[in-house]
Amino acid sequence: GLNVRDVSFAYGDGTPVVSGITFGLPAGKVTALIGPSGSGKSTIADMLLGLLEPTDGSILVDGLEITAKNRRAWRDQVAYVPQDVFLLHNTIAANLRLAAPQAGDEELWAALRKAQAADFVERLDGRLETVVGDRGVRLSGGERQRIALARALLRKPSLLILDEATSALDWQNQSLIAQSIEELRGQMTILTIAHRPSMIAFADWVVAIEGGRMVEVGQYRRLKAKSGSRLARMLSGERA
Ligand code: ATP
Ligand code: MG
Repeated sequence: GLNVRDVSFAYGDGTPVVSGITFGLPAGKVTALIGPSGSGKSTIADMLLGLLEPTDGSILVDGLEITAKNRRAWRDQVAYVPQDVFLLHNTIAANLRLAAPQAGDEELWAALRKAQAADFVERLDGRLETVVGDRGVRLSGGERQRIALARALLRKPSLLILDEATSALDWQNQSLIAQSIEELRGQMTILTIAHRPSMIAFADWVVAIEGGRMVEVGQYRRLKAKSGSRLARMLSGERA
């Protein structure tokens, strides 16, 4: 598992945007990170990805701190599905092979199936050689995110981070991604950054932040039942 221990981070101007963050990501479990826009979720994700170095505190992988020495090796073990997915104006296969240049078609299809993306690729014209992007086939935000999830899975990560798009995905795409996460549970450690109740319904653990500080951490089932918890408020439709 992973442990975030008393982590703070400040961008250029030195004002901390997150402070004193401490939580664990149990191996093989799904943890949801929730909080309002600007609360620091993506900043925390970037530190877990080894893209930003904590200004203070540390991040430990199976008890071992991520340092300048091992950061690069750690990056190879993490996969990220960003908030807004950019696909190359190229074939679906080329987009997937960015993550695994040697992957054969079989492997690409397997990853697409795992990401619940095989069906719509089949509907396009059934070919991995279909060109997507600006001047090719236009994919919806949800479809792009499912291709990005397939691409992430090809890297066989030990940690998968999904930064849920703030732009509204339709419920069908949301539930397809939720289904994928459900199926991946136990195979890797998953952190999902969630704005919508439907994307946290399958979480084992929940971490809530506000203004860069932790306001709640605990088991999904417990927090859901606890009246007045951020999670309970979010699930009842209020802002978390
Ligand atoms: P959202 O839900 O909108 O994606 P978030 O919780 O992911 O928000 P962050 O992107 O982590 O929030 O931003 C946290 C704070 O850090 C915000 O105040 C933001 O303006 C600031 N911030 C983010 N990136 C940078 C940057 N590169 N330089 C300076 N400040 C930044
Ligand atoms: Mg964000």
